[in-house]
Amino acid sequence: MINFGYKIQADRQVDYDAGNHRIFDFVRKSEPSIDWCMSCGTCASACTASASTEYSLCRLILNARRGMEDEILKSVYRCRFCGKCINACPRGVNTRNIVYLMQLAVTKISKHEI
Ligand code: SF4
Ligand code: SF4
Repeated sequence: MINFGYKIQADRQVDYDAGNHRIFDFVRKSEPSIDWCMSCGTCASACTASASTEYSLCRLILNARRGMEDEILKSVYRCRFCGKCINACPRGVNTRNIVYLMQLAVTKISKHEI
């Protein structure tokens, strides 16, 4: 068989109903501005942690919305709480508090409190 250099990509379909949304719900209760996020990525372009790691706040919020807890755990502790993202966000999302609340939610999950 001739190899043309193409391959079938892995399925990237996201099933929003399949995820666990407890982190998103926990954050949203105290910080409703998470709903204003439009996944534009501006925060990631300004982010200190994004400059040196795979971290992206935009993706973090998206993964929380999708209920992808494993993905959140991989990067939620990379934030350095510098606050640059707050100034960059065009929607006025309280970004730093969102990361803080996500970390709090992860701690509570580990203690079986949520
Ligand atoms: S507070 Fe965290 S997410 Fe925001 S710019 Fe700083 S390192 Fe990035
Ligand atoms: S800059 Fe604001 S609206 Fe854009 S992805 Fe980041 S948090 Fe969401």
